[in-house]
Amino acid sequence: MIVVMRTGADRAEIEAVEAAIREVGLEPYPVVGKERTVIAVVGKDDERARPVVAGLPGVEDLLAVSKPYKLASREHHTDRTVVRVGSVEIGPGAPLAVMAGPCSVESREQLLATARWVKREGATILRGGAYKPRTSPYAFQGLGVEGLKLLAEAREETGLPIVSEIMDPAEVEVFDRYVDMLQIGARNMANFTLLRAVGQSRTPVLLKRGLSSTIDELLMAAEYILSAGNPNVVLCERGIRTFETATRNTLDLNAIPVLHQRTHLPVIVDPSHGTGYRPLVRPMALAGAAVGADGLLIEVHPEPPKAWSDAEQQQSFAEFGEIMDDLRRFEYLRQPTLPSARPANVPPAEIERLRSRIDDIDQRLADLLEERAELAVAVQQSKGAEDHGHDVSRERALIDRATRAEGGVLTTDERGQVFQAIVRVSRAAQRRVAAGPATASGSGKAGA
Ligand code: PEP
Ligand code: MN
Repeated sequence: MIVVMRTGADRAEIEAVEAAIREVGLEPYPVVGKERTVIAVVGKDDERARPVVAGLPGVEDLLAVSKPYKLASREHHTDRTVVRVGSVEIGPGAPLAVMAGPCSVESREQLLATARWVKREGATILRGGAYKPRTSPYAFQGLGVEGLKLLAEAREETGLPIVSEIMDPAEVEVFDRYVDMLQIGARNMANFTLLRAVGQSRTPVLLKRGLSSTIDELLMAAEYILSAGNPNVVLCERGIRTFETATRNTLDLNAIPVLHQRTHLPVIVDPSHGTGYRPLVRPMALAGAAVGADGLLIEVHPEPPKAWSDAEQQQSFAEFGEIMDDLRRFEYLRQPTLPSARPANVPPAEIERLRSRIDDIDQRLADLLEERAELAVAVQQSKGAEDHGHDVSRERALIDRATRAEGGVLTTDERGQVFQAIVRVSRAAQRRVAAGPATASGSGKAGA
């Protein structure tokens, strides 16, 4: 049960309620907010407090809560909460929050280059570890307060609010000075002293799920922070430990809709630690957005293989750019309540002119592709349906020619990708024609 005190209830009224709760063998947990105080009643059969508290001076309302996490529960807090980090909102109605940056802050150059890049790509919060919880005591432990200062410098330059992991309750004060959001790492989710300490701060908290913690244990950890007086908690699914060894962790995407049912707090997804491998981060970031996460946490490094921690999972600048492109393509970055996030400003004449030339080229490319496919099909028809028509040496020569040119904007590899696609599509058209209308099963006019 939760006792909601009237705004302006005084100390004596609050203490009288607490005493009445104790008298029936239950424990009161007062949460002093800016506006009002609420008192969570904890213990077996907490409804026993109702008759002794009802009607006491200063009591406004008594709320029955069946869950052990009273303040985090959605039972009485049916509207989902929006948490503000600097100028960024996380939660319903706000655009997907993208927290990006290196696993560890390594140097000024590394951090600033990454901060500039992730901002350019559309990230909204900069992350970076200054104190690192490492499995080995001999591994890099972080730059400490120097790292926090570098993060603050990056915020100064980019305007991005910053989030960084805190490991020691004694450091809350110094973190409060430098960061906009305190991260509690997976390994510290059940460090109750630390949870209480960040609960006494007003800085928003990013609470990561423990490696082997249930969803309800995560919510109880959030309850520690909320009950200590800090209402600004964002939860993070970052993968759990299962029997599976193909990935570093198993990203539990079930947790997102389950958490949205059980709590009003915002929930974000960390596909970097959730998978542990660079190529898996993009698909799982998209999946996280698709199941309704309020944000994502993605590790980005200028040279991932050289990173001092989590080298296998950090995204290169280009890879991070691709994730952001995909999030935009699927419209996950758009503010859901706005009809369109498209900026109203019209592009300058020069951009219009260049774009119209690109449109012309696209049209010519489409015509050329059609013409090329018709010729390839004619070759197949001359060979007859019995001949598979695959001339590997011609195909190799073609890719060779196409990729030989150097010094342009496209790399050899990128040109190769385009021509590989052309060859495959041509072969598909040839095969469809050879199969004839009766057996053709592909889409397009040949199969109609
Ligand atoms: C991190 O975010 O860099 C980190 C250490 O994450 P986790 O606590 O989820 O392992
Ligand atoms: Mn990491």
